[in-house]
Amino acid sequence: MLYIITEFCIFVPMELPSKLLENVVNEIAQLPGIGKRTALRLALHLLRQPKEQTHNLTTSLDKMRSEIKYCEECYNISDFSVCAICANPKRDKTIVCVVEDVRDVMAIESTGLFKGIYHVLGGKINPIEGIGPSQLNIKPLIDKVATEKVLEVIFALSSTMEGDTTNFYIYKQLKEFDVITSTIARGIGIGDELEYTDEITLGRSLMHRIPFEQSIRQI
Ligand SMILES: [Zn+2]
Repeated sequence: MLYIITEFCIFVPMELPSKLLENVVNEIAQLPGIGKRTALRLALHLLRQPKEQTHNLTTSLDKMRSEIKYCEECYNISDFSVCAICANPKRDKTIVCVVEDVRDVMAIESTGLFKGIYHVLGGKINPIEGIGPSQLNIKPLIDKVATEKVLEVIFALSSTMEGDTTNFYIYKQLKEFDVITSTIARGIGIGDELEYTDEITLGRSLMHRIPFEQSIRQI
């Protein structure tokens, strides 16, 4: 069996010399954006590291998987039952920014411009993939608006068809309440994901948000 390993490339042979190595390669290759070739390179790298390092990696992964929590107020990830943003008395709890997932919270936080709180939906309505409103954290958002002092709900989902559908569904649910609904300005290109938008553009979009009704007319 021939391995040609250079600094630049590894050719993945049809069969690996170890089933143990193959198992690791197969697991790593399931990660997004990682093909078999990269998986083999990473597995061989791990094999060359001191045992302590791989032990630390597997322990961290195990601990994260078993101990991480979702904030019981906004569904952001957290080490505690309430996340640092919701627990911060300086955050304005009357302004709620609705996002698809925790990466969007990180992206908006990196702008340093938003002082309200978040609500993480955990996805978008997508009938083709069988994701309906009940599978997302939409009801807790409606309950929050119904029972707490919320003055504004900002939709900050990516501007895809699924994002627009989700915004509109929530907008209709919120109509009976005395709350302003707005959306981040569409400086962000159609289909762009928030996490890939640069901080200045995202910050500007947040500051120049527009009433949601106005955005429906633009669609
Ligand atoms: Zn929270």
